Amino acid sequence: MDQPTERTIIVRVREGLHARPATRFVKLAKSFASDVEIEKSGKSASAKSSVKLMLLSVMENDEVILRVKGEDEAEALESLSNYLQDPNAGLDEDEGHAAVQQTPSAPAQQDSQFSATSLKGIAASEGVGLGPVFGYFPEEIVADNLKISGAGIAAEAKKLETAIAAVRHNMQASIDEKSLSPAERGIIQALSEIAADDAMLDDMFAAISSGQSALSAVLATSARTAEDFSKMADPYLKARADDVRAVGRQIALSLLNKKDTDLSKVPAGAILVADDVGAFELTRAPLKKIAGIICARGSVTSHIAIIARSHSVPAVLGLGDATKTLIDAKLVGLDGKSGEVVVDPDQAIQAEFAKRKAAAQSEHEALKVYKAFQPTRADGTVIEVAANIGSPDEITAALDAGAMGVGLFRTELLFMQQKELPSEEVQFEIYARVAKAFKPHSVIVRTLDIGGDKPVAGIEFPHEENPFLGWRGVRMCLDRPDVFKPQLRALLRAAVAGNIKVMVPMIVDAAELRAVKELIKTCAQELAAEGKPYEEFALGVMIETPAAVMVADDLAKEASFFSIGTNDLTQYVMAADRLNPRLAKLNDVTHPAVMRAIALTAEAGTKAGIMVGMCGEAAGRVDLIPRFIAMGLTELSMSPSMIPRAKEKLAQMNAVMR
Ligand code: PEP
Ligand code: MG
Repeated sequence: MDQPTERTIIVRVREGLHARPATRFVKLAKSFASDVEIEKSGKSASAKSSVKLMLLSVMENDEVILRVKGEDEAEALESLSNYLQDPNAGLDEDEGHAAVQQTPSAPAQQDSQFSATSLKGIAASEGVGLGPVFGYFPEEIVADNLKISGAGIAAEAKKLETAIAAVRHNMQASIDEKSLSPAERGIIQALSEIAADDAMLDDMFAAISSGQSALSAVLATSARTAEDFSKMADPYLKARADDVRAVGRQIALSLLNKKDTDLSKVPAGAILVADDVGAFELTRAPLKKIAGIICARGSVTSHIAIIARSHSVPAVLGLGDATKTLIDAKLVGLDGKSGEVVVDPDQAIQAEFAKRKAAAQSEHEALKVYKAFQPTRADGTVIEVAANIGSPDEITAALDAGAMGVGLFRTELLFMQQKELPSEEVQFEIYARVAKAFKPHSVIVRTLDIGGDKPVAGIEFPHEENPFLGWRGVRMCLDRPDVFKPQLRALLRAAVAGNIKVMVPMIVDAAELRAVKELIKTCAQELAAEGKPYEEFALGVMIETPAAVMVADDLAKEASFFSIGTNDLTQYVMAADRLNPRLAKLNDVTHPAVMRAIALTAEAGTKAGIMVGMCGEAAGRVDLIPRFIAMGLTELSMSPSMIPRAKEKLAQMNAVMR
């Protein structure tokens, strides 16, 4: 018998075979007549089933065996191998997954006004809602456990086929008719594909052939597949369990000729309370009009959360059994930033909700006017309000917030997410993508800032008593050119795509900076010899050690710019571990010692005529911004969510400055 043609491949698809990349891979596999199978760690799955493929959990850099058997196997093997080796495979249309990655900001640190009476769930979509409950608790569908045989088997199979076709038709109609956002369209499309998944359908029809009714076959297959997803470690894949259950329920309802409560009937101003809501059902609700969503299940990466966020509906998910206490409530309040839910709030709490809601709404609206605002000093110098980001997933949020470039791209995440050191190529693509997105603004990439407190595959850190005072940041990088050079080469190459600047963390003197420059020179020479295009970039330093403050004059002669890292500068000046909650009081950027260190840095940089910016948390503190500007800082970089308020502050000051 003919053996399948096979090839061992290291998968380079950056997103792994998740979501869109998996669906597109399946589509490609289906375009060939041959059978296609993928094996990972001894487990294999048909490449023509996105459900089975996702359950294999194939990630970037995983080794897989691709097996192809059939009339067009050579062509199929070539084409599918190329797909698996393309880092960008499936990315351009991957709006659904991109949305999944956007987790909301951390819950607010505000003190709860409701703590005595409130329940706490997962803060999934920011905003405050108060309104009557619209309960959505569809009846449980149970298997009929009928035994079938003979002609009954063909009849049940036919019933199942009709039910699946009806569900897919409804989903397609919803995609075509409703004014869905691209993310929602992607979600419904994905559900529709689950409803047509070869492997799931095979399992259902096999169950019918073995004597189960269509209803029992659908419920058993979807429950089993959902269970498999719920055991996955990856939060995105875990959340797909809900999708599989939702699709199974839709098919079961169709078999029974039943319909769930129509969510298009949720009255304006009501709070939707449910155990769980499928994405398909939720998109039928009048999302622009409802006041909030509370669910027993769900997480920040579940589809309910994504849809709620994309419509700015406040949502608290994962409330568990406590959701039951809401069923008979007359009124419910929720705060999607703190995760608080209050049942039948009294007048005082209602007033507090109304206040929070009005304040958040008017602030959000009002701050939009600053999106394109360019704060400018009286002498014409533009104050750059830039974003701190950790991955390209944050580009959109930063641009939407009005970021004038990136003041700190923390590259650690790229290293921490991988099972091995990210290659020069992978890094190059990411840096170039970010640079292009913010062009002509600059993107300041910080070279790898990591130490023994954050392990990275591929770098062995020694055990240290004080990792924050240890072998980290530039110290480690200079000792490990095999780690540092690929990053510098990637940055030199990416600088062709946009306005890349580079800064070095944990610097203590000019000699360290000179050593970095030497290495950059070597990298540039190598690239020139290899005929690879590159561009030289401005090289700056982070000022975050007391030593750097003391020698700021010397550093200013060698560096193109300074960026003050107040998070570390505060801990080192105050000798107070920034992670130790007992020392939180000492970690105070407004302490005169720290403020003086910032002022000295600003003075040295300004005297030398180089840009002085700040990228520590303090840069976004509106109470301190006037002091920083007065010291001569011309760039403030912060998390995107802080940008609108910072710009507003600068606009208010602008009048004073002119
Ligand atoms: C800082 O130290 O202020 C800084 C911006 O860097 P990180 O918080 O990543 O150490
Ligand atoms: Mg730091």
